[in-house]
Amino acid sequence: MTKRQLEVLIWNRECETMPRTDLRSLQLRRLRETVARAYQRVPFYRRALDSRGVKPEDIRTLEDLRRLSFTVKSDLRDNYPFGLFAEPLAQIVRVHASSGTTGKPIVAGYTRHDLDIWTEVMARVLAAGGVTDRDVVHNAYGHGLFTGGFGFHQGAERVGATVVPVASGLTKRQLMLIEDFGATVLCCTPSYSLVIAEAAADEGIDIGFRWQLRVGFFGAEPWSERMREEIEEKLHLHAVNIYGLTEIVGPGVAVECPFQQGMHIAEDHFLAEVIDPETGEPLGYGQKGELVFTTLTKEGMPMLRYRTRDLTTLDDEPCPCGRTLVRMDRVTGRTDDMLIIRGVNVYPSQIEWALLQVAGLEPQYVIVVDRQRDSLDELEIRVETTAKLHAEGAAALAAAQAEANRLMHQALGLSATVMVVPPGALPRSEGKAQRVIDKRQR
Ligand code: AMP
Ligand code: ZN
Repeated sequence: MTKRQLEVLIWNRECETMPRTDLRSLQLRRLRETVARAYQRVPFYRRALDSRGVKPEDIRTLEDLRRLSFTVKSDLRDNYPFGLFAEPLAQIVRVHASSGTTGKPIVAGYTRHDLDIWTEVMARVLAAGGVTDRDVVHNAYGHGLFTGGFGFHQGAERVGATVVPVASGLTKRQLMLIEDFGATVLCCTPSYSLVIAEAAADEGIDIGFRWQLRVGFFGAEPWSERMREEIEEKLHLHAVNIYGLTEIVGPGVAVECPFQQGMHIAEDHFLAEVIDPETGEPLGYGQKGELVFTTLTKEGMPMLRYRTRDLTTLDDEPCPCGRTLVRMDRVTGRTDDMLIIRGVNVYPSQIEWALLQVAGLEPQYVIVVDRQRDSLDELEIRVETTAKLHAEGAAALAAAQAEANRLMHQALGLSATVMVVPPGALPRSEGKAQRVIDKRQR
């Protein structure tokens, strides 16, 4: 396919192309408001500031941000479910959630105003890919606690497009709807887009001839330039990278413009820093480290210096598209062991927890993640049994395996294959146990 350049379309010219000096003063004003609100309304933040002897009034410049402590995922867990909300539930009109390190999810709460801001940043995302009221948006992100489906839904409605909230799964039906409704825009995880492409090929559908897809918005999991080429070629569309996370708002935190030199961060709402993950020291533009966000306009659940665990670099060079917002590079890795499997966050600790609920299984296990060409991720967990269970024979082993499978599904919210193996069957390592074998290569 010859690649047509996407047109440059900017949803909110005033905010997205603001001179950086003006942007910085706006950020400072909003930062001060956010810190004051968090201090007054959230005991967790009050304690965090007090422990450093910092008062909200001490934040006088953007650099003073460094005086605040970091917020991490376990703080959300410790304050589960609503402890970090800065508004009473009467003002919270929506919650979303994402998997945490244990069985309990990470919860986010939104006021009406928060939903409005989220919708605005999602409208910017869609406009960045050239979407207008002439488009039909096939939204195959999950609609539920996961933020993807609702985020795209809201943004697509705001730009006036015709949105089809199809959600994920039932791929054959998706093929029919994409064709019959004349979808021009596809929203889903990058891996699911290839499943759609493959299913279409199996049905003998000539996508370039029969479908009208023009652009796709892909995110929620890591993907590569190679995968972009593959998606663009198979689905005959422009593939746009989008980034976001539940703790900050969901999708809409950052999006690529047609120049594809990284994703512009909606910095008037989310203040970005990159830090050295070891020392916590802020790093300059162009230096790779852990991405940290402070929300600037969120009412329901403000976040101060939230460590995303995502590794990237920031680039503040002017972009030919005219946006003045900094760009973040593709996420190149994580500082923790979180895996993203079929778009769902999975921690080895959750897997271990589920295994250890089953009598007769040992904490000796290996997690194997694989992806065959154009199919979804497969998750297999091999776990050793105790000698006692092993001696009980096949029926007992099968029962333990079935129980482990059931609990795994419950704990992770996705299907996995647990295989019990005899005691001592798995390789032992001399140092850190290598628990995860990720064979997915793109
Ligand atoms: P969730 O809160 O469940 O939506 O998960 C958010 C996490 O998904 C982020 O912290 C990233 O690790 C990952 N993620 C989201 N978008 C992307 C993307 N475009 N590329 C790589 N990873 C992503
Ligand atoms: Zn740009």
